[in-house]
Formats: sequence, structure tokens, C-alpha cells
Amino acid sequence: MIVITSNQTPEEQVNDIIAVIEKEGLQAHLSKGSDRTVIGLVGSVSPKLAEHLRQMKGVENVVKISKSYKLASRDFHPDDTVIEVKGVKIGGEHLAIMGGPCAVESPEQIDEIARLVKASGAQVLRGGAFKPRTGPYSFQGVGVEGLKMMADAGERHGLLTITEVMTPEYVDVCAEYADILQVGTRNMQNFDLLRALGTCGRPVLLKRGFSATYDELLNAAEYILAGGNRDVMLCERGIRTFETYTRNTLDLSAIPVLQGLSHLPVISDPSHGTGRRELVEPMAKASVAAGANGLIIEMHTDPDNSMTGDGVQSLFPDQFDNLLRDLEKLAPLVGKKFSSQVAVPVV
Ligand code: PEP
Ligand code: MN
Repeated sequence: MIVITSNQTPEEQVNDIIAVIEKEGLQAHLSKGSDRTVIGLVGSVSPKLAEHLRQMKGVENVVKISKSYKLASRDFHPDDTVIEVKGVKIGGEHLAIMGGPCAVESPEQIDEIARLVKASGAQVLRGGAFKPRTGPYSFQGVGVEGLKMMADAGERHGLLTITEVMTPEYVDVCAEYADILQVGTRNMQNFDLLRALGTCGRPVLLKRGFSATYDELLNAAEYILAGGNRDVMLCERGIRTFETYTRNTLDLSAIPVLQGLSHLPVISDPSHGTGRRELVEPMAKASVAAGANGLIIEMHTDPDNSMTGDGVQSLFPDQFDNLLRDLEKLAPLVGKKFSSQVAVPVV
């Protein structure tokens, strides 16, 4: 249920409403929008309490929310969520670009890629230290050492870092070294992991499960939000369909649909979404045209020798750079602007 007040409602009246809600043992979530303030209630609301709230001073309306997710829904939070990390804004009108290899391989590899990612104008360095591989004998990532390599490269070049965390036990160490934590498609409904991320103190990029509906994705996001972490991004990374030419089918409709249902930033991953290098550029552009708040793109200096199979979908550095030049022109046409970068440390 949500209680709607106008943004002219005095703060004391809003506080009185919250006090009544909390007295009933329910949580009240305040969201100050541009023209109205919404107080969201999580928990079951008795008809008596609903009626009492409706009669209170400053209340314009009391509306029942039938969706199973609450904090993730736009009803609860009418304005776009804008996540801010070290001055980089993600969400709303800000376009954030995350680029880098599928996996961190060595200090030299990640440092050189970080330099190129930064020079192209992106804000975030991506790279997996723990890799969720389909087969147990495939390269599984370099582990904690990889987190350190990436943190060093990010700091040296003035980039935020994002890396995948696969199990609750590794949340703390990933949060220690990375600025943003990624939940992979295979883990979207790993509820213990989602709960652990609710209190990790870092923004989370939650990838859509390759067979998950929008509703399931938003409920997965709700687990993280309910734990107290409000900095969640949703990521469309392609779903499994009958088509085998592409690795997955990038569901472009997910972008406007999720933005309608939710206030959370929506990031598109055209690399895993297509699995083919030549499709990354057109689908990245299509994603921005469809309103994506950001992109996560694989780029490698030597994709043919990358340690995961994702070299085939990784852009070469010049392709990544050309894409960003085009996106700079496209962004203003769809009401977006590039987020600013983290300042490079002066040495
Ligand atoms: C990745 O980003 O490298 C990755 C494994 O992504 P996904 O979980 O979407 O397959
Ligand atoms: Mn990958």
C-alpha cells in the first residue's frame, strides 16, 4: 500500500503519518518525488489502518499495490533512482558505460584494458575474477588475486570497477575490492546471495536470469532492496529462445517495460545478449535508443586468446572506441548524457 501526500505537505504531517505506520509494526519507506511524496508500506495493512491513514491531514490518497514486489516498483518510488558512486551517476538521464574483459587474466592485461576503457570515455571497468562456467573443467577465474588486480587498475586509471560475486561467502571480499557487485544470470534467483547483497554496502547490478520473466527479475531485485540496499540496477543480458544463431536473444522490450514497472536503472549487455562481436555495436545503439541507462560491454586487447570463450563477443579496443563516439552523438537525441568519469588520481 502507498500513502500519497503532496510535496507541499509539511514535514510534521509526513512524520505523523510515518509514526502511525511504524506504531502498527510496519515499515514506512519515504520517497520524495518532484510533485508528490509517497510513503510506501511493507507488510499487511488492516482496513482500519488504511482508513485511519486516509483521514489524516496531508494525505491525498491511499492506494493498494497488488504487485508482489514493492520497493522495486515505480508506484512506491515515482522518480528514477540515480545511483551515485565516486561522483559517477547511474540512472535517470545519465548514461553509464562499463567496459572490459570477460575475465581478469593478469595485472598487465587488466591495466592495459583499463587504460583503453578510460581513454574511450567509459566510467566503469568490468572484469570477472570468479567466473560461472558451464563446465567444471573450464577456467574458473583467478579469484581474489583478480579482485586486487582490478582494484589497482581501476584506481590507477580513474574508473569504477564491477565484478561478479557468485556466493554469499565471497560478498565481503568482493565488496572490499570492487565498487559495484554483479549478480550473473545463473544466480538471479540465488536468494541467499541476494539477501547477503542487501547489506553489502555496494551498488548491485542484477542480471536477468536467461529464463526469467520481468516479474521474477523484479522480485529478485526486491530481495536486495528489502535488505536495505537501495542501489540496485537491473540488467537485460539476453534470454534463451528457439533461435540458435545468436547465443541469446537480447530482449530490447525489457528496457522500456522494466523502466515503466520500476524506478531502478536498466543496463543492457549486448555482448552476452548476442554472443557475436558484429552484433554488439548495433544492439548497443538499439539499447540506448530504447532508453537504457547504461551498457556493459566486453572488450579485449587480444580476444582470440582470451581465457574464457567470450573472446568471440568481445570488441577490439578501436571498435569500443568508435562505438562510444557514436553513442555520444546518439545520447542527446534520446534525452541522455554521458555520466562524468572518476577523476584520475594525481601522482
Ligand atoms: C559476464 O558478465 O561475464 C557473465 C558471465 O554474464 P552472464 O551472467 O550474463 O552470463
Ligand atoms: Mn563474459
